[in-house]
Amino acid sequence: MADHHILLLGPPGAGKGTQAKKLCEEYDLDHVSTGDALRANKDMETEYGTPRSFMEAGELVPDEVVNEVLETALENADGYVLDGYPRNLDQVEFLDDATDLDYVFFLDVGRETLVERLTGRRVDPETGENYHVKFDMPEDEEVRERLVQRDDDEEDVVRERLEVYEENTEPVIEHYREGGDLIEVDGEGAPEDVFERLTDAIEDDD
Ligand code: ADP
Ligand code: ADP
Repeated sequence: MADHHILLLGPPGAGKGTQAKKLCEEYDLDHVSTGDALRANKDMETEYGTPRSFMEAGELVPDEVVNEVLETALENADGYVLDGYPRNLDQVEFLDDATDLDYVFFLDVGRETLVERLTGRRVDPETGENYHVKFDMPEDEEVRERLVQRDDDEEDVVRERLEVYEENTEPVIEHYREGGDLIEVDGEGAPEDVFERLTDAIEDDD
């Protein structure tokens, strides 16, 4: 099977992480998530300060820092699903020089659903696995009890992140749309249904 290079675009809470994980299992790909990579290096000292200060405020981490994180992650991946990058037009240019993409998906989800998904998201600190208070709680009581909320999933930061998305990342979506590369997928409904829409687009093309 070809090593796909898949990009998942969409607002915070659209389900990129959830779908990336499923796609990686289905097609044996690596998950490249700048959000996960930054969370694992939150207190890394850079000339701009630590990633934490930007992330907790819901702002973008400076390009110089994120680009390096991305480059390292891509070096170690053959086939991949990329999620969380690019978030502005300069990052689009950087990505364009770094790799070729086979599929650029946009997960389309309405604002109310986004807020509900983000504020209800919970993380297992032991595994990094994402859950949701309403849509996806773990069966294991021990896991249920240790779930935490990401600092940036609290409602005021969520609103800031959605604004940062509109200002910086919507132009990215437009860029791929104008280039004719964007595959728009309805991101509402059950995770399995969204996944089927994605794999249909991939399989139709193989
Ligand atoms: P993103 O990576 O785009 O920010 P996530 O994949 O982390 O989004 O999903 C955000 C939250 O919404 C998580 O708590 C996840 O469990 C939940 N979620 C993801 N996809 C769906 C879906 N199709 N229906 C309901 N909840 C979902
Ligand atoms: P979500 O998909 O829920 O918005 P992510 O996990 O992708 O969240 O990102 C969390 C935070 O990490 C962002 O709010 C931002 O501060 C930082 N971040 C992640 N990717 C990038 C990027 N490509 N450029 C700048 N900051 C980023």
